[in-house]
Amino acid sequence: MIREIFLRSNMLGLMQNKQLLVSSIIDFADKNYGDVEIISKVNKTEKFIYNYSEATNRIKKLIQALNKLGLKKGDRVATLAWNDHRHFELYYAISSMGGVLHTINPRLFEEQIIYIANHAEDKILFFDESFSSLICNISKKLLTIDHYVIMQSHKSNPGIKLENLLSYENIIDQKNIDIEWPQFKEDDACSLCYTSGTTGNPKGVLYSHKSTLLHAWATATPDTLGISSSSVVMPVVPMFHANAWGLVYAAPMSGSKLVLPGSEMDGKSIYEIINDEGITISAGVPTVWLMLLNYMDEIKGSIDTVKNLVIGGSAAPKSMIKDFFEKYNVTVLHAWGMTEMSPLGTVSRLLPKHSKLSYEEKLNLSAKQGRAIFGVEMIITDDDGKLMPRDGSSFGNLKVRGPWITERYFKEDEPIVDKEGWFNTGDVATIDSDGFMQITDRSKDVIKSGGEWISSIDLENIAIGHEKILEACVIGIKDFKWDERPLLLVIKDKKSELTKKEVLDFFVGKVAKWWIPDDVVFVNELPHTATGKLLKSKLRDEFKGYKINN
Ligand code: AMP
Repeated sequence: MIREIFLRSNMLGLMQNKQLLVSSIIDFADKNYGDVEIISKVNKTEKFIYNYSEATNRIKKLIQALNKLGLKKGDRVATLAWNDHRHFELYYAISSMGGVLHTINPRLFEEQIIYIANHAEDKILFFDESFSSLICNISKKLLTIDHYVIMQSHKSNPGIKLENLLSYENIIDQKNIDIEWPQFKEDDACSLCYTSGTTGNPKGVLYSHKSTLLHAWATATPDTLGISSSSVVMPVVPMFHANAWGLVYAAPMSGSKLVLPGSEMDGKSIYEIINDEGITISAGVPTVWLMLLNYMDEIKGSIDTVKNLVIGGSAAPKSMIKDFFEKYNVTVLHAWGMTEMSPLGTVSRLLPKHSKLSYEEKLNLSAKQGRAIFGVEMIITDDDGKLMPRDGSSFGNLKVRGPWITERYFKEDEPIVDKEGWFNTGDVATIDSDGFMQITDRSKDVIKSGGEWISSIDLENIAIGHEKILEACVIGIKDFKWDERPLLLVIKDKKSELTKKEVLDFFVGKVAKWWIPDDVVFVNELPHTATGKLLKSKLRDEFKGYKINN
């Protein structure tokens, strides 16, 4: 009787409570797709080829090695590496043993890398041989690293002077061992990625095993990226950008052949690896695909195996979607997401009812950022939080929520979601009656150039430091190759002479070279909001179509 009452009042499902862990992905691939290949480009001419079972063996050895180095559950391990098999192994070994994989973006300015590694309190840093001099330059300022591990094919000492330096192939040079995958909670952290897409210092986004697994699962489904055992998947998006958009998890989960293209991102290299390996689906930012298009135009090439190219990180221009389809029979999947969203939020795929639309209408829909994938809720609101209609023309602040969307940044007390759990993305968008979202503007003070962030505020602060500059404002200007480039508007001190060159030279050595504004415009005044902030939306409108003069 008591048992019946209990069952009635507390009707839990009677399923096994198996935790969703990252290790289950590679374990599954080992047991069910063990002979499926992983191709890794290790330098301009050489590839390393093995399969999921062989990768799993090396991952298990790496887990042993990390244990021997004293890594504890929850410890952060940094990587500074391109897309290759060792980085892949680190993805799985670190998370599977209970550590936190911290992928660092090597394109950041040295000071930012130092800040990020110290903030994360990384214990071990794995780095590609090509970053040796960077590491030597900054190692004295990295306060928490106990061991450095160089990722190179040979085991010998690389000839660089660095204390506590180990070699990757040396530490995993041990007998094949079978280990039980460590078990812990699916809500435990498995990886960490800093985003500079906010104001102030870069912010850490801490993913859990569960969020990573669910996101990869959703990514693979037919109406999202449609990844299966017949796919040949190549993440061109770097593995230090938001988990390579989940592809390094979705591919082994689906039994797909995985191709890791190394560091060469020029049109020719990408073209050759696509054709050598029979890629069916790849993903990256528009800048990379523009280089591929230009190269193919030049050599009259073709990419016959490719069905889909996923373009995201910045808006995919309609002309690019059209070129890929008309010239190369490739359907672009325009996708939108954020580091804070693991990252995938929407994909633009036409619905069956759209088959009747004209070619131009279909193209217009494909150029939108697309519809929410299962797991992501999405709304637009005005500045007071009032819901805006889904009519395709009203625009508002784009807000999202879901199980793979961040609630708060690493080591920050304040949540970044409102009372109802909505995260304000900083993008401004419309949503139509079919749920197709289109980004129309960005309210955050950052500029995206070639898939990487540039802080307009940092640039303004530097400019203001010039004795002849009274006020400065940096806005993003549309650029065909890079999507956006920074334009600096300055009010100079009328009493003194100041040239454009002088202003630009002032940035040298203070920021990464690619952050330096492309152009400087001297103005008499800058518009402000009622609270005294620069009114950038007005300036963006005013300078729309501005041609960089350099
Ligand atoms: P990140 O966190 O570096 O991945 O950057 C996320 C931001 O990139 C978004 O909030 C957008 O501002 C921008 N973004 C990403 N994908 C797209 C896209 N398809 N179209 C336009 N902007 C995009």
